[in-house]
Amino acid sequence: MRKKLAAGNWKMNGLQENLHEIKLLSKYANTATCEVLICPPATLLQSMNAISSRIAVGGQTCHTETSGAHTGDISAQMLADSGATYVILGHSERRSDCNETDAVVRTKTKAAWAAGLTAIVCIGESLSEREASNTIDIIGGQLAASVPDKATGENLVIAYEPIWAIGTGLTPSLDQIGEVHDFIRARLERRFGAGVGRSVRILYGGSMNPKNATDIAQVSNVDGGLVGGASLKAADFSYIIKALG
Ligand code: PEP
Repeated sequence: MRKKLAAGNWKMNGLQENLHEIKLLSKYANTATCEVLICPPATLLQSMNAISSRIAVGGQTCHTETSGAHTGDISAQMLADSGATYVILGHSERRSDCNETDAVVRTKTKAAWAAGLTAIVCIGESLSEREASNTIDIIGGQLAASVPDKATGENLVIAYEPIWAIGTGLTPSLDQIGEVHDFIRARLERRFGAGVGRSVRILYGGSMNPKNATDIAQVSNVDGGLVGGASLKAADFSYIIKALG
């Protein structure tokens, strides 16, 4: 049985004064059956981690190296040292803002694993790729090239995030989400074997909110959500936690 995961991506949002949202959220996390994770800016990792043992914290990226002359960067080991147990890798904003390729994401994933972190590897098609009916090819290619060998149900989570749905209020139909998640599951089973392939969680991400979360949570092979905007307020994120069980 895969435990559902409600993962919040705070992106470049959040100051110490916003930590009260996590105190509010802990009330819901305490009674949730799903796992709850927030990936805040690195500046908040330690203080957020101290608030609730039921809310895991994670990074939003990491460097490929453990340490060295890389001004402004953060290593997977540093994230782990600050209390992180997860790291988001290959988010479409990192792929476009920082030119992160599949090969870079793959190397970062290995670095995350070496530090004992679970990597949440993000993949997703652009609107023009969907309109050209290339979604499945794009997803298959990103999945193959971004995920290293030796994946397990503990060290890997896949997030399917259509780029055109992120922060736009647009979402794919439930059938479209199901088609991609079923495809990812089949590819994971083919590459890693049925045991591992069935144990890796696949999250949906892209404008998930209190209104659509219950329906999305019912789609086959949706094992949780990666949530941006709606994770910033406990009042909204608590509905998504509830929808995931
Ligand atoms: C994200 O950035 O991972 C995301 C899904 O954002 P939003 O929920 O705001 O669309």
